[in-house]
Amino acid sequence: MVDFAAIRAQFPILDQQIHGHPLVYLDSAATSQKPQCVIDAEADFYRTINAGVHRGAHELAARSTEAFEQARAKVARLVGANAEEGQEEVVVTGGATAGLNLLATAFGNASLGRGGEAAKRFALKPGDEIVVSKAEHHSVLLPFQELAARTGATLKWFDLTEDGRIRSDTADEVITERTKVVAITHVGNTTGAITDIAPIVRRAHEVGAVFILDACQSVPHLKVDFHVLDVDFAAWSAHKMYGPTGVGFLYGKRELLEALPPANFGGSMVELAWMDRPAQYMEPTARFEAGTQPVAQVVAAGVAAEWMMNIGMENLEAHEKTIAAELLKLGDIDGVRILGPRENVNRIGTVAFDVAGVHPHDVGQFIDAQGIAIRVGHHCAQPVHRHFGLYASNRASSGIYNNVEDAAALVEAVAKVRPFFA
Ligand code: PLP
Repeated sequence: MVDFAAIRAQFPILDQQIHGHPLVYLDSAATSQKPQCVIDAEADFYRTINAGVHRGAHELAARSTEAFEQARAKVARLVGANAEEGQEEVVVTGGATAGLNLLATAFGNASLGRGGEAAKRFALKPGDEIVVSKAEHHSVLLPFQELAARTGATLKWFDLTEDGRIRSDTADEVITERTKVVAITHVGNTTGAITDIAPIVRRAHEVGAVFILDACQSVPHLKVDFHVLDVDFAAWSAHKMYGPTGVGFLYGKRELLEALPPANFGGSMVELAWMDRPAQYMEPTARFEAGTQPVAQVVAAGVAAEWMMNIGMENLEAHEKTIAAELLKLGDIDGVRILGPRENVNRIGTVAFDVAGVHPHDVGQFIDAQGIAIRVGHHCAQPVHRHFGLYASNRASSGIYNNVEDAAALVEAVAKVRPFFA
């Protein structure tokens, strides 16, 4: 039995009053709070081993490198990726957005002929297709829209069901022999819906396309194994999985990372550099990690990954399901519409909702006055809002530290919104 009250007590930030009420934090889809062990890991790194990695002959540099690589291995274990030396499949990035841009830039470089023969599998030309969905965060949509514009490829997308699920059943029509790249979210950041990616991955591979998963909203909430899912690349952020800000990870199948040309250039990614000859770049993962890395944050992210695995992703998932069940009661309130699946099936505890006749900013302020933090706006996902005929919404999203009382407090507060503004 997991003691969830004890887990909650590990988050010092939750122990405070906001506007005279105990803080109820329901904005974990934006960023999660951090347990004490993660906060300590970052500070301890600076206190005891702070040094650059992969260079320098001194002892602190060696310890720093070891801590950095151990953290990479822990994060790899969380998502079922290879971590053996020389076979690493997890690249350190500045976050999910940085990881997705890294891929789009690298594919663009491959399209210009960079990376030689091996990189040709990533090259795009006019007539080729890139497929996304209407449920994508702008961090997926925009890098690949730009890539299409730069290469002359055509951007296509999956439509959504009425309740906002990606229409995986249309994979055979949407993905064609011309499709080269498919980039899809694992869990909608507005709808909370878990995408049935299997038919999309299968079809992408059938036509020889690369499948990229936006795992931002799945890794923190679900047990994921990228080998089992058979995705080619996946990007996510540490700050949404109880880790620090400013760092994220990009998974890539090892053979694909080996074929992928670099996207960022500079120190620590080059084997040989000359004035008058092309540089010889390092093998993955170093090839994609130009410049000084956020070592303290990566080390703390490793601690976060281990902390999650110690709780057990199945336990975490089951606990958050109870919060989702309570949050879904929002849909029973007169004038409140849930933007996403109403049933507590194949979804997480991220529940966006509209309150008829009340602007989301007014809803957010009203709720905040009671110490409850939710997100309002378009959540960097304008197309999915247009799908629901809206520009903005309110979004409550759970984390491991929430309890059913938190969700019930929100439901009670939302029930008062329309009477208040009427
Ligand atoms: N994709 C999804 C589904 C997200 O929810 C987010 C963050 O809100 C991102 C991508 C971008 O993550 P970040 O801002 O950490 O780079």
